[in-house]
Amino acid sequence: MTTKPDGSGPGPFPWGGVRRFNAYSDALRKKYGTRLQKLSVNAGFSCPNRDGSKGRGGCVFCNNSAFNPSYCETGKSIRQQLEEGKAFHAWRYRKSVQYIAYFQAFSNTYAPLEVLKARYEEALHVPGVVGISIGTRPDCVDEEVLDYLAGLSKRHFVHLEMGIESCYDKSLHWMNRGHDFACARRAFEMAAERGLSTGTHLIFGLPSQSREEDSAQAGILSRLPLKTLKLHQLQIIRHTALEEIYARNPQDFQFFSLDGYIDFVIDFLERLSPAICMERFSGEAPPRFQAGPTFGMVRADRVLQLIEKRMEERQTWQGRLFVPGNKEFQA
Ligand code: SF4
Repeated sequence: MTTKPDGSGPGPFPWGGVRRFNAYSDALRKKYGTRLQKLSVNAGFSCPNRDGSKGRGGCVFCNNSAFNPSYCETGKSIRQQLEEGKAFHAWRYRKSVQYIAYFQAFSNTYAPLEVLKARYEEALHVPGVVGISIGTRPDCVDEEVLDYLAGLSKRHFVHLEMGIESCYDKSLHWMNRGHDFACARRAFEMAAERGLSTGTHLIFGLPSQSREEDSAQAGILSRLPLKTLKLHQLQIIRHTALEEIYARNPQDFQFFSLDGYIDFVIDFLERLSPAICMERFSGEAPPRFQAGPTFGMVRADRVLQLIEKRMEERQTWQGRLFVPGNKEFQA
């Protein structure tokens, strides 16, 4: 039985749930009264960090093929991708579900506003699709796009996911991200001023930062107006610049063991604001894309089970050590 944080009985925890972390899926179910299933879409956008307008070559870890589902091909319309995504997931969920179109591949605000509107609205016209989640870069959103999305969010679910992977400029530079942390902070604040829901990602285990710095990001992110967070262990994906960097200097990399990662993530969660919803705890690129150490055949859902089991054993929960107003790790 899950117990209250003070041990006096069964939950709920500060977010009103009985799980030991603030689960985004639970928060959505509570708000919308049903399961919301994300369906990935490749809307044919590019990325300014690849086409030369910000940089060339892209982020060192980036190989979009490693996480794009097979039904997402730019030769297919957005509607067709979503219909195939619905069919793909139908066998798993017999009960009724509603869908969020997840604009995942590349930078999904990197086009003129009229083009963005047409693509988002095509998705929103597919039966069962109640909202959109837009993956993009923090330097790819401006006031015009944010104003439009804020208007759209009055009628539909809209979530803006701006991956940063690290809060440290030295790591953003090492990854060839092409923007700094101040840019990311500005983008999150501009979105929040308009009432938009935002999320981000981190990668733990980058050779450009220490474990202590990995961990201190819990404090830094807790002070941003973020709704969601995804965590990933560093994976070396084939056909990336990172694969070459790793092949040249493998001694620079310190990978997490599965056991070490579970405890590390829990330590991180203890310092994270309980208000941030957790969407993912680990990455799982398919084995054929992996060019470095992995967690073997342990899938992300199993990693999550192990984290929850260890949290129960440790009698801890997200935010247990979070102190509002503590500026200790503010970037
Ligand atoms: S990770 Fe995103 S921002 Fe970086 S190169 Fe790939 S698509 Fe562009």
